[in-house]
Amino acid sequence: MKLKSLIALAAGMLFFQSCTSKKTENNQNTDSLKMNKIEKISFGSLPDGRGVDQYTLKNAKGMEVKIMNYGGVITHLTAPDKDGKYEDVVLGFDSLAGYFTPPPYFGAIIGRYGNRIAKGKFTLDGKTYQLATNNNNLNHLHGGIVGYDKVLWNAQAIDGQEPVLKLTYLSKDGEEGYPGNLNITVIYTLTNDNSLKIDYTANTDKTTIINLTNHSYFNLSASKKDVLDHEVTLNADKYLPVDSGLIPTGELRAVTGTVFDFRKPTVIGKGINEVKDEQIKLGGGYDHAWVLIKKEANELSLAATVLEKTSGRKMEVMTTEPAIQFYTGNFLDGSLLGKDDVKYTKRFALCLESEHYPDSPNHPTFPSVILKPNEKYSTTTIYKFLVEK
Ligand code: BGC
Repeated sequence: MKLKSLIALAAGMLFFQSCTSKKTENNQNTDSLKMNKIEKISFGSLPDGRGVDQYTLKNAKGMEVKIMNYGGVITHLTAPDKDGKYEDVVLGFDSLAGYFTPPPYFGAIIGRYGNRIAKGKFTLDGKTYQLATNNNNLNHLHGGIVGYDKVLWNAQAIDGQEPVLKLTYLSKDGEEGYPGNLNITVIYTLTNDNSLKIDYTANTDKTTIINLTNHSYFNLSASKKDVLDHEVTLNADKYLPVDSGLIPTGELRAVTGTVFDFRKPTVIGKGINEVKDEQIKLGGGYDHAWVLIKKEANELSLAATVLEKTSGRKMEVMTTEPAIQFYTGNFLDGSLLGKDDVKYTKRFALCLESEHYPDSPNHPTFPSVILKPNEKYSTTTIYKFLVEK
C-alpha cells in the first residue's frame, strides 16, 4: 500500500473511533439525564428503634444532595469550584448519632415556628398559648423541645431528570403547645442548573401560627477554613435590631452607615467584630433578620449572594419570604467534631434562613404568620450554586 493510502486509512480509522466514542459519551449523557435514580440507604436508628433513611439526589451535572428523613436534614450538598470540582459545602455529621446531641440544627427543617418567640408566649383569637422556653429558659426557639428537626418525616423519592424528595409530616394539635393539626409537605428538588429548590406547603384545621425554614450551615470553601472571608450581599436596606435575648425590639432599622449594610458585596469579617455597634455585641456577631426588598409581597426574588473567592464558589438565595436570618455560627465553639473529623469552631459557617420575622406573633405590625383553616401556607426558597472565575 502506498504511503498516501496508508495515511488515508489511518485517518479514516481515527475518524471512526472518535465518532463512536462521541456516541458513547452522548449515550452516557442521555442515560444519566434519564436516570438520576434516587439512592436510598439506611442511616441508622433512633433510640426508640425506628429506622432512618438517607436519600441521595443527583443531577445531570454531578451535583449531589443527601437528605435524611430524620428532621428532613440536608446532610451533604456538593457544589462545583472554578475547576469544576464538586465538594461538600454544608456542615453536618458522618453518622446519625451526631444529630442527637444538643444540636445546632445542622441542615434541618425548622418549625412549627422558626426562630424565637418571646417568653414562648403568644395570643391567638383571645387565647394565650405557652410554649417551651427552650432557649436559655427565656424564649422559645425553632419550634421547641422536639421541633420538626427532631421528628421522622414520611419520605417519597421521585426519580427523574430533576430528582425530587417529598417529605410529609402531621404535626398534631397541641404538639409542642401549638394549636391545630398541621399537615406539612416539604419538597426538595435538585434541578439541572445546580439549584436546590425547597417548597413548603401546609394546612391546618384550627387557626395557628407557622414559620418554616431550613437551617443549613454553609461553608463554600468546603470546610477548609472559617467563613470570615466569604463575601455576602443582602438585598435589604433594613434589619431588625434585637434585645439581649435576641428578640426583635419591633424597630426596622436602616442599614445605612452601619456594619449591617450588605447591599454591596461585603466580606463578613469586615464588621463582625465591631463591638462599638451595640447590635453586634448583642448578637455575638451577625444573628439578625434582614427585611428583604420586594416589589410585591410573596414574590420569588433574590435575597442573598455569597462568594468564596479562592474556590470561586458562589451561592444565590431566592425566596418568597419577607426576611432572611443571617447567622454567622457565633455559637459554634469547637466542641463539635463534624464530617471527616473537622472541628466546627466559631464562625465556621453561615446560615441564610428564609423566614417571616422572629417573634411576629407578638408584633402586630410585622407581616402575619397566622394560618387559618381553609388557607394554604405556601413558600419557596432556592439555593443556587454557581462559579465566579
Ligand atoms: C438563631 C441563632 C441560633 C441558631 C442555632 C439561628 O436561627 O438565630 O440565635 O443560635 O439558629 O440555633
